[in-house]
This record gives sequence, structure tokens and C-alpha cells, in this order.
Amino acid sequence: MKIFVPDLEKHEGEFIPFIRQVSLASLGVDLPGCDQSCMTVTFHASYVAGRVLVRGQWQVELTGECSRCLAQTAFSLTEQFTEEFIPLRGAAAEGGENTVASEGEETLVYAGEVLDLKEYLRQSFLMAQPLKILCREDCRGLCPGCGVDRNREECRCREEAIDPRLRVLMALKDKKQLQ
Ligand SMILES: [Zn+2]
Ligand SMILES: [Zn+2]
Repeated sequence: MKIFVPDLEKHEGEFIPFIRQVSLASLGVDLPGCDQSCMTVTFHASYVAGRVLVRGQWQVELTGECSRCLAQTAFSLTEQFTEEFIPLRGAAAEGGENTVASEGEETLVYAGEVLDLKEYLRQSFLMAQPLKILCREDCRGLCPGCGVDRNREECRCREEAIDPRLRVLMALKDKKQLQ
């Protein structure tokens, strides 16, 4: 996920469009079932006043377990971004290709001629994880009593709970069978 900065410098002040597909594995994201998923990054980049401006969005199609009924559920994650990357110079630049450095407050940086968005995208993706996944807004989930998927069938736990007469009859029937 690299941008060659001299290409942007040639067109200083212009926003150059990019569309890139990167696998989550190549971003170093280690989530179960995510290795093959691709992130589509659509953005514009520009070299302005000695720094690189990047704005656009990324999107990933994923599947995960519904947190209520555990069904495999497809969902998409997307995030808009507008960021400014500052070149690291001198000794700091020799330290490596760190995209993020903290100098009091967090500053996004790049070293040399290449701006690598990998680390930035990795963190952005990890922060965008949903707290819970739902197969649909009104998913009724699994019954905690019998484990039945309440989206597919009515469970009987509730019937028994609200009809004590039925329970009495069943108890009588059980007794008879025992005798
Ligand atoms: Zn569900
Ligand atoms: Zn039940």
C-alpha cells in the first residue's frame, strides 16, 4: 500500500486518484477467517506545502457470527479518512518506515520517498471493528433454555413457563408411566 511521493511532487497541489486492493493478511491483520478478505481503498493524494494529504475511504466485505443466533453473517465495514503525512528528515528518517510517530500528540509521518499506508490502514481497520454483528436488526437469537434458534422455530420453554396447568398434567402423566 505504497505511494511514491516524487510522483505527487511532480503535480504539486493536484489531487491524484488511486484505487488499490490490499489483502488484510498483507496489512498484518490476524483475525480468524479474514486472511483472504480484501480491502478496497479509494482515495486522492496530493503533495502540498511539503506534506502529503490523503483523503478517501476503505471498504471490506467480511463474514462473522451473529452475536445473538451465531449464524454466519455477511457485513461490510467502511471508513472515511482525511489525513496529513509529514516527511521525517535527518536521523529520524533512518530509523525505518514508521508511519506513525508520537511527538506529544500523534503525527503521521513517512520516511524517504515512499509513503506506506499499511500501518495506518491496519490500525484504522482494527479500530473499526463492530461491537456486535447482527444477522438482522430484529434477530431473536438462541433460547438460553433449550438452545433453539428462535428465528426458525418457536421454543417450548416459554409455553411451559406460562401454563402451569400443562405442567401439572404432564407431571401426572409421568407419574402414571412410572407406576
Ligand atoms: Zn442472528
Ligand atoms: Zn427454549
